[in-house]
Amino acid sequence: MKKYDFIIAGGGMAGLSLAYYLLQSPLRDRRILILDRDQKNRNDRTWCFWERDPREPLSPRINQRLAATRPFESILFRSWKSISFHGTTYSGLLDMGRYRYKMLRGIDFYSFMEAELAKWPNVEQKQATIQRIKDTPQGGFIIADDEPYIADYIFDSTFALKLDQPENHNLLQHFKGWVIQTKSPCFDPQRPEIMDFRVEQHGDCRFLYVLPFDEHTALVEFTLFNDTLLTDAEYEADLRQYIDRYLPTGGYVICETEYGVIPMSDEPTQENPSEHIIRIGTAGGFTKPSTGYTFQRTQRYLQTIVKNLTDTGKPNRKEPWFKRRFKFYDSIFLNVLEKHRYPADDIFTRIYTENPRRVFKFLDEDTYFLEELRLFATMPFWPFLSAFFDVLRRKVVG
Ligand SMILES: Cc1cc2nc3c(=O)[nH]c(=O)nc-3n(C[C@H](O)[C@H](O)[C@H](O)COP(=O)(O)OP(=O)(O)OC[C@H]3O[C@@H](n4cnc5c(N)ncnc54)[C@H](O)[C@@H]3O)c2cc1C
Repeated sequence: MKKYDFIIAGGGMAGLSLAYYLLQSPLRDRRILILDRDQKNRNDRTWCFWERDPREPLSPRINQRLAATRPFESILFRSWKSISFHGTTYSGLLDMGRYRYKMLRGIDFYSFMEAELAKWPNVEQKQATIQRIKDTPQGGFIIADDEPYIADYIFDSTFALKLDQPENHNLLQHFKGWVIQTKSPCFDPQRPEIMDFRVEQHGDCRFLYVLPFDEHTALVEFTLFNDTLLTDAEYEADLRQYIDRYLPTGGYVICETEYGVIPMSDEPTQENPSEHIIRIGTAGGFTKPSTGYTFQRTQRYLQTIVKNLTDTGKPNRKEPWFKRRFKFYDSIFLNVLEKHRYPADDIFTRIYTENPRRVFKFLDEDTYFLEELRLFATMPFWPFLSAFFDVLRRKVVG
C-alpha cells in the first residue's frame, strides 16, 4: 500500500485550494494524493465573494486576511466596485466602501489549479470514488475504487453533513440560474444586483440576483432560503416571470444553467474528527450558516491549517473562544428565518441599507462587539429577542 504525507479526499474547491497552499508553503516537497470521482472540466458553479481593496492602507491583520484569495486575483471573471439591491423600502446602489464584489468561474479555477498542480511531480491526482475513510494508528486510511491508501493526514471534503438533527436549524439555500444572452442591451456591466426581492415571497426568503457580464449577457439566478426544494419547473417559472417583468431583453437565449443547494445549518461540525483526519470545505463546516458563502472562509481557514502544519507539524485549527459568538448570531438569524418571525425581505433591507460597509465586515466576522451591537439595533427587536431565547433553549439548555 502506497503511503503519502497528505491525501486530499475530494478535489473540489477546498481540496484543490489546500493543495495549492501546501505547494506554496515549506511543505511543497511532500507526497500528496488528490482523489476525486469527477474530472473537474465543467463550469459547474460560479463563486462570488467580497474582499477589501488591497490598494488602501490597511492594518496588518486585514492585510493578512487579504492574502487568502490573492492567488485567484488573476483569474477573476469580474470584480465590481458597486452593487445594487432591491428591497422593500429601498432600491439602488449600496455603498461598499473599500470592499469589492468578485466573481470567479468554476472552470477558470479548475484550469488554474490543473496548470499549477502539473508543475509538481510529488502531486498525484486520481479519478476514483472514495468508499471509506478511517483513522488507524498508522495514519489516515482510505479506500477508493477498491484501492487502499494511507497518509499522515487525510483532508476530507467529501463527508456529508446530517442536516436533520432537531436541535439545529437546517435550512437550505437553493437556487437555479441561467446565463442569458439578450437581443437588447439591458444590463449595466458595472452594477450587479445582489438581491432583488421583487418576487412573491410565499412567507419564505426568495430573491433574484443578476450578475452582468456585459450589456447583453448576465447570470440571472432565483434563490430561496427555506427547507423545501422546488421542482425545475417552479424555479424556471419564477426566473421567466422576473426576466419578462423587469428586464427589457427584447428576447433572449439561455446559454448555461446553474443549480445548487448549499446547507444553511448550525449543525456542530467536526473539523478534526480524529487524529489523522481533518474535514475541510463544506464538510468541515466552513460554510457560513446564515449566508451560505463558503469560498472566502475556506481560503482563510485553509491558510491557517497550512500555517499550523508548517509551524507545528499538526494542522488542527482552533477558533478563538471570543469568535464563537458569531455562531450564536448565525443560529439566531436562522431561527428568525426558520420560524418566519419577520419578513425576510424587510430584514435584508434593514441589514443592507442601515449598515452600509459594516455589513460585509460583520459577515466576515471581523467586527468588534460595539459594531455588532449597532447592527443589531437596526433589526426588529421582538422577533430577534424571541429567536435569541429559542436558540438558548434549543442549543444551550437542550
Ligand atoms: C452551484 C453552486 C454555486 C455556489 N456559489 C457560491 C458562491 O457564489 N459563493 C460562495 O462562497 N459559495 C458558493 N457555493 C458554496 C461553496 O462555495 C461550494 O459548494 C464549494 O464548491 C464547496 O467546496 P468544497 O470543496 O467543500 O466542495 P466541492 O467543491 O463540491 O468539492 C467536493 C469534491 O468531492 C468530490 N467527492 C464527493 N464525494 C466523493 C466520493 N465519494 N469520492 C470521490 N470524490 C468525491 C466531488 O466530486 C467534489 O469535487 C456554491 C455552491 C454551488 C453548488
